[in-house]
Amino acid sequence: MATDPNCIFCKIIEGKIPSKKVYEDDELFAFHDIAPWAPVHFMVVPKRHIASMAQLEAGDAALMGRLMTLAPKLALEQGCRPYPEGGFRVVVNTGTEGGQEVHHLHVHVMGGPRPWLKG
Ligand code: AMP
Ligand code: ZN
Repeated sequence: MATDPNCIFCKIIEGKIPSKKVYEDDELFAFHDIAPWAPVHFMVVPKRHIASMAQLEAGDAALMGRLMTLAPKLALEQGCRPYPEGGFRVVVNTGTEGGQEVHHLHVHVMGGPRPWLKG
């Protein structure tokens, strides 16, 4: 598994930095955002260090497909109400102009009753 020793999310995945874990399997990890914008706010990440969506390759399609089909299940488990009254927002900040601060690909999942802190 490719990891980056300087990457904060790699350290979280390895358990070197504590996190509130939501889910883990052999290739995906999910944990609560430390500064939530919404009543439910967690991130799903590939365990392999991929810097951003911009680095995805054709061979990552299955991995990202699994990530995107896992997200709705975790959203419900974490307290988002069902679609269509409830729902959730998925955000993938990519690159500086995309607002990305941590350079390990992560999918934000936000939901819960309004209002939210942002968005
Ligand atoms: P982004 O701006 O999309 O790169 O988002 C990075 C997110 O990581 C921000 O929402 C931060 O609050 C969150 N974050 C940074 N450090 C940690 C940490 N140690 N544990 C959980 N979330 C973190
Ligand atoms: Zn990483």
